[in-house]
Amino acid sequence: MPALSTTLTNITGGGSDGWEVFMRARQMIAAGTPVTELTIGEHDIRTDPSILAAMDASARGGHTGYAMVPGIAALRQEVADRVQARTGVVTGPENVMITPGGQSALFAAHLAACPSGSTALFIDPYYATYPGTLRGIGAVAVPVQARAEDGFQPNADDINALASGAASLLINSPNNPTGVVYTRETLEGIAQVCKRHDLWLISDEVYDTQIWEGEHLSPRALPDMAERTLVIGSMSKSHAMTGSRVGWIVGPKEVIAHLTNLATHTTYGVAGFVQDAALFALREGPALEEKIAAPFARRRKITVDILGQQNHVRMIPADGAMYVILDIRDTGLSGEAFANRLLDEHHIAVMPGESFGQAAAGHLRVAMTIDDDTYGAALQTLCAFAAKLCK
Ligand code: PMP
Repeated sequence: MPALSTTLTNITGGGSDGWEVFMRARQMIAAGTPVTELTIGEHDIRTDPSILAAMDASARGGHTGYAMVPGIAALRQEVADRVQARTGVVTGPENVMITPGGQSALFAAHLAACPSGSTALFIDPYYATYPGTLRGIGAVAVPVQARAEDGFQPNADDINALASGAASLLINSPNNPTGVVYTRETLEGIAQVCKRHDLWLISDEVYDTQIWEGEHLSPRALPDMAERTLVIGSMSKSHAMTGSRVGWIVGPKEVIAHLTNLATHTTYGVAGFVQDAALFALREGPALEEKIAAPFARRRKITVDILGQQNHVRMIPADGAMYVILDIRDTGLSGEAFANRLLDEHHIAVMPGESFGQAAAGHLRVAMTIDDDTYGAALQTLCAFAAKLCK
């Protein structure tokens, strides 16, 4: 066959992608060995029946043809109202494009911000798709390490040191994989660097309804940042609608106009009945969002209680999202070695920190996505295993 484009083949970057533990757990399950999986960032509940009823009514009502490419007017307005109410930044439907999930929004936002061959910065530890997304649009993906010692809050000086000539910076708060919520000080430092180096800031806020301590601050609301910030949102995490593929980009209206042009030539928009379901779900207001976030808040408390009873595994303060990151460096094992042994010896699957970049080496990401009792028991086993290794 003819050669494939290197833009495509470079997406995965070669080498190990750090998902071996996950794949091995799935193979064990397929072979009949029960495994407690604390690996995947997906709720243990399904999309609420009321949302499905809205989707069904819309489809049966005829909303099965092409929908407006930047999104149906009512949903764009609803997202704009929501963003304005939560951030205080004046936002209208012209600032919003509806996308097939946050992932495609990340891709489109970087295509808007980064000329081919330019540098796109991102924070390490990072959500698994980030480097591939940046390479996929033809940018050079450059990580900036956040340190465990700083509670994985990115340091503005470290970003500044790599920012000269870069086109964009991608951040994510509340963060996957760490569960860390960036402080106002962190975000103000980031905003200064973006302004100093004329960077686009791409702010992935898909976990913005999952905050356990403090508050979510969108950097778009910081002084003079609205003109250089593209916010990524999604219904996946806030409304347990991962499979529906509906999210958005919020940014300056000129950017949204160009992105609509991009969508016309790529996705051709999002199914109308899915958008109607998203509209229904958003109009249900905070009560539904709180119901969906509640299990993670409970399990985060279970984590704090269990981790507080021992001193071999350290929890980095996790104030949001559905994950906690645990420091297991006292055991002398790498995250990968620990995760492999935990899987083999106790049939518990967690993600090695190394799957999410260099900065999270010696850590584990635990997804709080199984029922409370099984979750608590698995965590107790993990801590007992670490204690044995420390002896
Ligand atoms: N950003 C982050 C940080 C994520 O964790 C995810 C999903 N795991 C996404 C974006 C993409 O989500 P979706 O495409 O389902 O909206």
